[in-house]
Amino acid sequence: MRRTRSLLSLCACLLVAGMWQGAVAAEQFTARKLADNIQLITGPSGNTLAAVDTDGVILIDGVPAKLADAYLVFVSNLTGTDKIKAVVNSHWHDESVGLNAKLAAKGVTIIAHANTRQWLTTTIRKRGEEVLHKPTPKAQLPNKIFYDKFSLPFRGGNIELGYMLHAHTDGDIYAYFRDQNVLFTGPTVRTDSWSAVDESTNGYIGGFVDAYDQLALLVNDKTTVVPISGPVIGKAEFDEQHTLYTKLMKEMVALLRKSRSAEEVVAANPAIGLKPQWGDPSVFLDEGFRSFYGNLRDARHLGGAMP
Ligand SMILES: [Zn+2]
Repeated sequence: MRRTRSLLSLCACLLVAGMWQGAVAAEQFTARKLADNIQLITGPSGNTLAAVDTDGVILIDGVPAKLADAYLVFVSNLTGTDKIKAVVNSHWHDESVGLNAKLAAKGVTIIAHANTRQWLTTTIRKRGEEVLHKPTPKAQLPNKIFYDKFSLPFRGGNIELGYMLHAHTDGDIYAYFRDQNVLFTGPTVRTDSWSAVDESTNGYIGGFVDAYDQLALLVNDKTTVVPISGPVIGKAEFDEQHTLYTKLMKEMVALLRKSRSAEEVVAANPAIGLKPQWGDPSVFLDEGFRSFYGNLRDARHLGGAMP
C-alpha cells in the first residue's frame, strides 16, 4: 500500500514536472492577433497561424518535432481548446511537418501538396550522400493531398491553398485568407534571413522567383504578409524583397553564363551589402546556383538555353 502510494506520488510529481516543463517551454512562443480568429504564433522556428474555427483550430504550418509538445500547450492556452481539426504543411521540412506524428495519432487532417507527401515517404539524400530524411511511418503522413489548389472552409469563407512549382522545394504551398486578407507565404519568404532553395528536393532559384511573382498577384496595399520566419510585412517590403531576389537571380545567371562554379559565385558574393541584417548569404548563393544545373534548358530564366 505504502509502495503504491509512493508510486502514485512519484507519478503525480512527474506529471506536475512535465506540465511545468511544458508551460515553461511554451514561453518560447508568442502570439499576436492578425484578424478575428486568426492568431500569428511566433517561436524559435518561425511563424505559424492558428485559425480558430467554430469546431476546432486549423494550424497553418507546424513546428519542429522537438517543439511539438510545448507548441501544442501554447495553442491550447491561447485558443482555449485542445481540438485541432487540421494542420497544413507548407513543405516537407521538419519545421513544417514536426507536429504530424502527434496530430495524426489524434485523427487530425494533415494537408499537403502531393509532392510533400511523396518526399516524406522516401529517403532523401543531399547530393547522393548525406541522409536528410528517412521515410515517415505511413500513419503519420499527410492524409489529404492536392496538386494545384485546395479550398478549406473557415468561418463562412475559405482558406485558399495554392501550389508554387519548384521554389524552396517542389511541394511548396501558400495559404491565403481572402476575406481577412492575410497571406501565409510558405517557405519562400523570410524577413529575418536569406531564404534558400533545397536543391535535393527540386528547389530551384528560377521557381523561387516565380513564387514571388505568384504571391505578388495576391498582395495588395492592405494585405498582411506572413513569412515563414521573421516579422510580418506589407506590400512595400514584399515588393522590395521581390525586386531584390529577381535582380540577384539575374546576376547569378550572368555568372552561370560565364561558366563560374558555385564556389566562385559564393566567393564573388553578388548579395554583398544588400541585406546585411540577414547575415551570411552563402547557402542561398550556393544552393541557388547549384539549382541551375538541373534546369539548363530553362530558357525563360536563363535568357536562352545554355549552349
Ligand atoms: Zn524549409
